[in-house]
Amino acid sequence: MKAHWLVDAAGMKKLLARKFGITHKLPIEHSSVWFRVGGGVNVDEFLPRTSDNPFTTEHRSWSSIHLEGAGYWIWILRLSENRTSVGVIFDESMYAFQDFATWEKTTLWLKQNVRVLIDYIEDRQFPIMDFRILRRFASQSDYWVSDDRWALVGDSYGIWDPYYSNGFDIIGMQNTILTELIHADRTGGVIEQRIPAANRYLYEIMRAFSVTFTDFYPRKGRWYYVCAKYNVDMAIYFPILATVMHNALQSMFMDEDPTFREKVPHFISEAGKTHFRAVGFLASDEFRDNGVEGYDYMPLNADTYNVFVSERGIPYHEKDRVLSILKKNCNLILCVLYYLQSGRNYMDFIKRGAYSAITEQTDPERYRDNPDQLEADLFRPV
Ligand SMILES: Cc1cc2nc3c(=O)[nH]c(=O)nc-3n(C[C@H](O)[C@H](O)[C@H](O)COP(=O)(O)OP(=O)(O)OC[C@H]3O[C@@H](n4cnc5c(N)ncnc54)[C@H](O)[C@@H]3O)c2cc1C
Repeated sequence: MKAHWLVDAAGMKKLLARKFGITHKLPIEHSSVWFRVGGGVNVDEFLPRTSDNPFTTEHRSWSSIHLEGAGYWIWILRLSENRTSVGVIFDESMYAFQDFATWEKTTLWLKQNVRVLIDYIEDRQFPIMDFRILRRFASQSDYWVSDDRWALVGDSYGIWDPYYSNGFDIIGMQNTILTELIHADRTGGVIEQRIPAANRYLYEIMRAFSVTFTDFYPRKGRWYYVCAKYNVDMAIYFPILATVMHNALQSMFMDEDPTFREKVPHFISEAGKTHFRAVGFLASDEFRDNGVEGYDYMPLNADTYNVFVSERGIPYHEKDRVLSILKKNCNLILCVLYYLQSGRNYMDFIKRGAYSAITEQTDPERYRDNPDQLEADLFRPV
């Protein structure tokens, strides 16, 4: 068989990456078991709606539901009226793989750890349709696109963890870049500089995910940690990665001129450094012992997304606007870091609208060790 380009999208079989010996396991030990039940698992029936919960609507059971615990989380995904996917992702640094090796063992583990769910499934007598295991799935290839005109997309390239569904981010980014490269190649363009840039770009993205997931699961026992970590991860994911996806990624690889292609990763890298510091702070004893309880619910909604990604589809010839938004969003994540470090309740930062008040002109250094000033400048009046 002959082809000008070969793209491996065969998932974890990693046909090409194995052939060329360029894939390796990543240093986290997350594993998963999952099963489908022959019934509509309705979260309202075992975790009843309460009047103070802003997220309980009549369609709640059709959302992606996560049940969180130290060292694990569980997904509940309604597939149809009478089919539901349920899965456990767990960190083998806290739970033995053998405790999940069969359906019977997984049932026992659920009875010991998340009794409310397994009792519900048993009470309703939902049949168990299948049971699957995937052990230590985190892996990555050294690079994903080759001068020899082949590429690896999706799981054939790599995945850290499904907690935030980043597998599909990687696929979207790769397909966007690869479409430009193949198009340029087929229409006589030169792509020799773009290929190493494409590899560097994905490498940086995977590095951001490594900061997100390393030592994350064992700390999830404290609710305020879960809320703060979730929001810190969102504060790089939406303002930086989603902004790049909406406004930059396609044009970054559209021609051989490297200027824009180099400026955008500069902001990703700057935000990445701040994110690294924020995640490190969340892992510190200082944060663990700060006595903040947080709130029961986190106010993240579509409006927050609009603040983070204020414009979409900015054309290539207006790319300076993209850089301004990224600059503003780098300020945003620095403000997040300084407020967290102050030891005050980070959920107030969100509730009081601080995200919306930050601009390209905001000087985050003004707020280092000065949360009173930050609140005076950025918080909406009560
Ligand atoms: C436990 C777990 C839970 C996840 N949960 C979510 C989630 O809730 N939401 C989410 O967005 N993402 C989730 N992900 C991530 C997501 O599933 C993957 O990132 C995504 O499926 C990868 O897509 P892919 O096309 O690369 O690989 P796959 O989806 O594996 O597709 C590869 C396809 O190639 C086919 N194939 C293999 N070999 C050959 C061959 N030789 N010839 C022809 N065809 C072949 C396979 O049959 C398969 O259909 C999860 C991942 C894991 C590990």
